[in-house]
Amino acid sequence: MSTRTTTQNDAWAERLAAVGMKSIPRPLAVLARGEGARVWDVDGNEYLDFLAGIAVNSLGHAHPVFVDAVAKQAATIAHVSNYFATRPEVELAERLLRLTGGQRILFGNSGAEAIEAAIKLSRRTGRTRILVLEGAFHGRTTGAAALTGKAAMREPFLPLIPGVDHIEPTVEALEAAMGDDVAAVFVEPIQGEAGVIDLPLGYLAEARRLTAQHGALLILDEIQTGAGRTGDWFAFQRDLPAGSFPDAVALAKGIGGGFPIGALVAFGAAAELLQPGQHGTTFGGNPLATATADAVLGEIEGAGLVENARLRGEQLRTAILGIGSPLVTGIQGRGLLLGVGLADPVAGTVAARALALGLIVNAASDRRIRIAPPLIIGDAEIAEFTRLFAEAMKGASA
Ligand SMILES: *Cc1c(COP(=O)(O)O)cnc(C)c1O
Repeated sequence: MSTRTTTQNDAWAERLAAVGMKSIPRPLAVLARGEGARVWDVDGNEYLDFLAGIAVNSLGHAHPVFVDAVAKQAATIAHVSNYFATRPEVELAERLLRLTGGQRILFGNSGAEAIEAAIKLSRRTGRTRILVLEGAFHGRTTGAAALTGKAAMREPFLPLIPGVDHIEPTVEALEAAMGDDVAAVFVEPIQGEAGVIDLPLGYLAEARRLTAQHGALLILDEIQTGAGRTGDWFAFQRDLPAGSFPDAVALAKGIGGGFPIGALVAFGAAAELLQPGQHGTTFGGNPLATATADAVLGEIEGAGLVENARLRGEQLRTAILGIGSPLVTGIQGRGLLLGVGLADPVAGTVAARALALGLIVNAASDRRIRIAPPLIIGDAEIAEFTRLFAEAMKGASA
């Protein structure tokens, strides 16, 4: 089926397997470089990248704005510790608060760290019970792992933090579990790692109402959905009534466009919960990270990429349904975060066939393909994706 050669890929994968912890999976390919929505591996094979480093490379690969931001800041001042501050840290904080409507922000280096900060924030309510949804993914550090829905990610590490209840993603289950002992409810507006699964209609608005009624925090995990990916700056801006906000939003992935950074934005009274000395990290607010994220978000704003994500997402959805494959049962998600449901448990086969044809998509589960291209894609990429994806599915269902 494919003329793809893998000699160098295999050699590097074997070297990795010899030195990396066994928790590191065998790579699908060993990548050497990228440009726009395209990447090349160490054997020179070219791929159309419709995963973007799991919704991270918002501007695609090697975008001049990203490259300039990293280079300029690295040549100016790269790190100062939290005994000092820099202008990029302040500028990025102001930009993210303007875009979210939040009051205060805390920077870290990853999604899991943003979640850890949110867990500590929730403890400051004086309560310890946390509600999370079945199927949720909030990260791999011990606190975040306790909140993660997949039992396989928790069980080898028990006991984790106590007081976490995993509930069905229905308003009824939330109503039943809710009480005045709940510190916080953590929710992904769209479940990403689960394969891009929508919440029931109106769920977030109900969660906002119920948490407010019981004095609990509503903490949204927009690590995957944020930074314009869903066709809004943040998914909650569509899911919550206008003028209504969560108590905190965890961010990472797409805000850095490939530079590791995470952040917790807090709203209203929740923004006042963490006191001096109660949290921090050496790299938090690092100028290399914050200057790059500020440039990435500036480009998303300036180039109209939130709107592009919305339009291209609709186009992509129509194109996928237009393939007319009997394998496709439906599409969930919004903008450029889409999950294609499959009638048979062949997502792994579809993704492997796509890779061999030169297309990167993700088999998030047996029956779900996750699609998350860079926000810069246009007609040409969508046409190429559609041709390759149709071909990959044809083989899988045969
Ligand atoms: C990726 C992700 C995380 C974890 O982020 P890391 O940077 O991998 O620690 C948490 N929540 C969601 C929704 C994610 O997609």
